[in-house]
Amino acid sequence: MSSQQQDQSTDTSTPASSSPIERASKVNLLGMTQAELEDFFLNIGEKKFRATQILKWVHQLGVVDFAVMTNISKVLREKLAQVAEITPPKVLEQWDSTDGTRKFLICMSGGNAVETVFIPEGGRGTLCVSSQVGCSLDCSFCATGKQGFNRDLSAAEIIGQVWIAAKSFGQFEEGATRKVTNVVLMGMGEPLLNFDNVVASMNLMMHDNCYGISKRRVTLSTSGVVPALDRLGEYTDVCLAISLHAPNDELRNQLVPINKKYPIAMLLASAQRYIDGLPDQRRKITIEYTLIDHVNDRPEHAHELAELLAEVPVKINLIPFNPFSLSNYKKVSNNALRRFQQILIDAGFTTTIRTTRGDDIDAACGQLAGKVNDRTRRSERYKIDMEAFTNASNDTIPVRLIP
Ligand code: SAH
Ligand code: SF4
Repeated sequence: MSSQQQDQSTDTSTPASSSPIERASKVNLLGMTQAELEDFFLNIGEKKFRATQILKWVHQLGVVDFAVMTNISKVLREKLAQVAEITPPKVLEQWDSTDGTRKFLICMSGGNAVETVFIPEGGRGTLCVSSQVGCSLDCSFCATGKQGFNRDLSAAEIIGQVWIAAKSFGQFEEGATRKVTNVVLMGMGEPLLNFDNVVASMNLMMHDNCYGISKRRVTLSTSGVVPALDRLGEYTDVCLAISLHAPNDELRNQLVPINKKYPIAMLLASAQRYIDGLPDQRRKITIEYTLIDHVNDRPEHAHELAELLAEVPVKINLIPFNPFSLSNYKKVSNNALRRFQQILIDAGFTTTIRTTRGDDIDAACGQLAGKVNDRTRRSERYKIDMEAFTNASNDTIPVRLIP
């Protein structure tokens, strides 16, 4: 990078290593936005432009060691090493599929792990990122939901997944053959229930001093936390995907329990407001519809869906249900899948089928379950109390502690 010029007083010697006690109190700069980093530098008596330098080192060059940051004076590097760190999460395991898909099991603090999947397709590289450890919303067809909720990921842990994938493909070096060009928040967790950290990390994905990914290539997928979706447009203009999965409330209540609190009409109206607020009117909402054998895959469901979405600017993405051990649902048949798609196409909708990738490494949609040390106990401990949630006046999720 041309801006990473050598500082006048450069010295590349490594600063003295810190004790565990000092380390514990250090602030991790990895997930900080430009504005947060500027505040950080002002607070330690330094100039704001240092924020840009750090962002470029970390997110454009993949450097996390202050000692290597040669456009920062030795004195400041040593000061930074005393008070701060740049610590990405660690990769526990990595699997490569024969189709080029790569899955990472990433260790987060507290003995938790989440999964992140990189899917190459021609010149494109889509990274499917997790936003929470587990999920409290407990959709009936989702392996993450079966795990229960453990905790939100920090902004550092979310952007850290992008950093890890970029590093693993040599994206920070010249001449990398693979690159993260697209990000979808479709891994583990409900992104809108971890609002601030998700917004901060998406901001870093798109920032010119970081990964510079276009807003048209970052997609947030939600099962429908309406109050949070109503606020989203104030903070970002990324693409929106709605996990619909059913054409009516009766069926959706069974598949996506949050529908009892925010039914389809409310959700679609909120999504429409979000899209209307975007500067580019051509952008459409992606409707995700997971097809489950004999549950939501009948022709009458397709017709009802077409009617429901007739006035909404959407493109539809059909996802064949991916089976996992804790579920009795079955994958949609090829015939039912094609028939469902044809009805929607005939009704005038752009309708694609999400091809299953990374089958041999369990990297497909909805199969991400991560691992936690005491997974069974944890998943039993944190379960959303749906009744309390339905009656709650805001979008706070009451989490029930099971004795
Ligand atoms: N919580 C968010 C994002 C994560 S889920 C959401 O629900 O949108 C990402 C997508 O995977 C969602 O559309 C979800 O419905 C889908 N999905 C979950 N489990 C699945 C499964 N077993 N087979 C196929 N798709 C699944
Ligand atoms: Fe959570 Fe999304 Fe899975 Fe539902 S589909 S349980 S919202 S991760």
